[in-house]
Amino acid sequence: MRDLRLGDIIDDWCVKCRRLTNHAIVSLVGAEAAKVRCRSCYSDHDYLREIQPPSKRELKKMAEAAKAAAEASAQEPTAHLAKPHSPARKKTA
Ligand SMILES: [Zn+2]
Repeated sequence: MRDLRLGDIIDDWCVKCRRLTNHAIVSLVGAEAAKVRCRSCYSDHDYLREIQPPSKRELKKMAEAAKAAAEASAQEPTAHLAKPHSPARKKTA
C-alpha cells in the first residue's frame, strides 16, 4: 500500500453531497488522511474513512437509549437476582 500524499484523490463520504464522492487530501496525520476536500462541492471536512456519520436524529436516539439503560440499571441493580420463581405447577392429583 503506497503512502498517501497531499492532493491525492480518495473516496470519502461527503456530508453536504450526502454520498460518496472524490475528495482531495488537504491534511495528513502520519500516513492517514486527516482532512479532505470534496471534489464536487469543495467543502473541507475531517476524513470520515468512507463511513457515513450518524445523523443528529440517530445520535439523539442513541443518547436516549444509553440514558434509559443507565437509569434502568440504577433503579434496579439487583433486578436479575430478585426474579420471582416461576409459578408452581398445579397439582392435578
Ligand atoms: Zn460534497
